[in-house]
Amino acid sequence: MKNLIFTLLIWIALSSISHAKQLAITFDDAPRSANGYMDGQTRAKTLIENLKKYHIGQVAFFSNSRALNDEGMKRMQLYDNAGHLIANHTHSHPNFLETNLANYHEDFLQAHRLLKEFHNFAPYFRFPYLREGETLEKRDGMREALSKYGYKNAYITLNNYDWYIEDLFQKALREGKEVDLQRLSHMYVDVLMQSISYYDNLAIKHLGRSPKHVLLLHEMDISALFIGDLIEQLRGEGWEIISMEEAYQDPIAKYETEKPLKYNPGKIGEIALGKGQRKGLWHYTLDESYLEQRFEQEVLLLSEN
Ligand SMILES: [Zn+2]
Repeated sequence: MKNLIFTLLIWIALSSISHAKQLAITFDDAPRSANGYMDGQTRAKTLIENLKKYHIGQVAFFSNSRALNDEGMKRMQLYDNAGHLIANHTHSHPNFLETNLANYHEDFLQAHRLLKEFHNFAPYFRFPYLREGETLEKRDGMREALSKYGYKNAYITLNNYDWYIEDLFQKALREGKEVDLQRLSHMYVDVLMQSISYYDNLAIKHLGRSPKHVLLLHEMDISALFIGDLIEQLRGEGWEIISMEEAYQDPIAKYETEKPLKYNPGKIGEIALGKGQRKGLWHYTLDESYLEQRFEQEVLLLSEN
């Protein structure tokens, strides 16, 4: 009996520590403008190769269908043919704060009509800027539309400003500055890991557990270049990469804020807000001047020496 209890205790201890933290990888704004370090086709091929190299079977690309010109279409077909999900991020990326419900709804539908033609189209909708409507009329209007067309709200839990690091990178290249890619990768991974662990800890604080997370990234050159480095670091810190569809099985998918918000921090920030937390809903790495300073000091200055 003593032995049995001992075994049971060991089993309980092990099962609680061996439970990996989980996240799904998603890329917004696809096909995002590509005319800097790589052209669009090179970006897509690099990204697909790196995902494959790190054994990631499927990620999701949230597309703005307005960007589906000849090149953009070819790029999306590469992702589609590689088995990745293609989902809706509106036609023209409108800001819901500056758009009425009728126009926003039409923009969503226009994207739906174009994107549903992809083999791996999946009815998930990601609100641009994460803004879900600041009035009841707008918020509930879009909720109704999503359910009418069989869509799920593709919320995110892990927020960051990866797009601003890309901006800094491309700007430096345009200015003829030499960019050390290894240092850039280091900064990219470090900034992302900081925000990921911040939001995971915030979730644990308010939920008492680490939920299945959804990581927001963008379809950009730095994503194509460094996704493997990020995945390696994540796995090294005990994370498991899961599919987006699995991530949305988490019970937090059902959590909704009581009142409509003007600015949405992402699901974990919203849960924290609902529990009365007012500060720290956006992590400090979501700040342009913070990222500028690090880019200047860690990527540019050091590479000039
Ligand atoms: Zn977007």
